[in-house]
Amino acid sequence: MDKNNFFEKAKVSAEILSARTGVTAAKAADAAGKTAASVLSATKLNLQIFDLNTEVEILYKEIGKMVHSEHLGKEEDPAVLQIKLQLIDEKLQKISELQEQLHAERSEVFCPNCGKQCKKDDAFCSHCGAQL
Ligand SMILES: [Zn+2]
Repeated sequence: MDKNNFFEKAKVSAEILSARTGVTAAKAADAAGKTAASVLSATKLNLQIFDLNTEVEILYKEIGKMVHSEHLGKEEDPAVLQIKLQLIDEKLQKISELQEQLHAERSEVFCPNCGKQCKKDDAFCSHCGAQL
């Protein structure tokens, strides 16, 4: 495969990946309307984390194939490898951000009186004043 072709292919696969993430997020948002806000949020976060992990796995595989191809004596474009490595860095960074967000959401509780979300450490509901 010539280098330009290879580069194009890598670009297209990156575009497909980002388009798919958008679609999944839209689906999650759609399903969300039927559930409580916090459940929706955690579900969405989990879905996003799942998708990002899948994308990272795909990139690992693609890089593995490139490395093996080099091993077989074929010439691979190092720029493409660089792009894939950067994509992995970005996705791993995003995953850790989402996980932090998810963790923060889980440390929240719901008021037994008004049902609104409160901080886990609060003694009283910040919305209605009921004891938590
Ligand atoms: Zn309350």
